[in-house]
Amino acid sequence: MYRAKSTRGGHHVYRDDDGQGDERLRTLAELRTALLEDQLLLHYQPKVDLAVGTVRGVEALVRWDHPVRGLLYPDAFLALVEEAGLMPAMTQIVFEKALDQTARWQEQGRTLSVAVNLSASSLVDVELPDRIADMVAARGLVPSVLVLEITEDFLMGDRERAHTILTRLRDLGVRIAVDDFGTGYSSLAYLRDLPIDELKLDKSFVMPMADDPRAAALVASTIDLAHSLGLRMVAEGVESSVAYADLAGHGCDVAQGFFISPPVPVAELDAWLASREVAVVTGLTATPFTPR
Ligand code: C2E
Ligand code: MG
Ligand code: MG
Ligand code: MG
Repeated sequence: MYRAKSTRGGHHVYRDDDGQGDERLRTLAELRTALLEDQLLLHYQPKVDLAVGTVRGVEALVRWDHPVRGLLYPDAFLALVEEAGLMPAMTQIVFEKALDQTARWQEQGRTLSVAVNLSASSLVDVELPDRIADMVAARGLVPSVLVLEITEDFLMGDRERAHTILTRLRDLGVRIAVDDFGTGYSSLAYLRDLPIDELKLDKSFVMPMADDPRAAALVASTIDLAHSLGLRMVAEGVESSVAYADLAGHGCDVAQGFFISPPVPVAELDAWLASREVAVVTGLTATPFTPR
């Protein structure tokens, strides 16, 4: 087997020429095409307000409608987007699509906030807050419709710069959520220092809640922690009615998960929202939503 050596960004990259490398290069080329030819799209997952049972916001999740391989999920391409240096371009596209859709909902009389995931690499861009302010204003929206979901790993980089960017965003009225809370390597100290509105407890704690008392204890304590810091608590990975009820019982603010709805295309979400409103109004459902 022949080994190719190349130099990229100062790193020596060795790889076996077993076809894997070719595949990677092809996918990289396809990614560039995907961005240029508008092959990325967003699915939306509702976030239910547990106290009142209403949907006040959604999370936008990127997908790639690959011309040959079909619909691809982030796990299949985000690392490559990062590696290819295409994250700023992808982030821009995601923001534009998410805000376009939010403006459309607003025109239809639906007030929904939209959460966009931001990679750690995006939190080094000091121009980001101004660009976001422009994108929001251009669509006649207020900045508070936007929630930015960041993971704890942004703290591994230039903390000071991240702090500056987050503070500027927060001053604009954009809301900040810490995603996958509890899975990062960072200390809790940032909760004291950083401008944050929301903690999203990782699904690895929420999913086993019903069967695992330790997971349940961690969820309950995290809800208390969030509230004592004045933060909103969101649970992701709510897959059962038991988890939903337990979270509501513990005073968790917002729930998101397959029990409520998986991430779906806009048309499906609109239909789901409409049927849910009818069910609530006519009292046809005991639960505040229609489980799928
Ligand atoms: P995330 O932000 O933590 O999003 C939640 C993920 O959990 C989504 O996977 C969602 O489909 C999945 N999920 C939701 N409810 C449940 C549930 O009840 N059970 C289980 N098992 N899973 C559930 P998805 O869409 O594949 O996204 C994976 C990750 O990719 C996201 O995790 C986020 O970190 C990243 N991502 C997605 N869209 C974007 C984007 O536009 N930009 C960036 N930078 N990252 C993104
Ligand atoms: Mg997220
Ligand atoms: Mg998450
Ligand atoms: Mg995640």
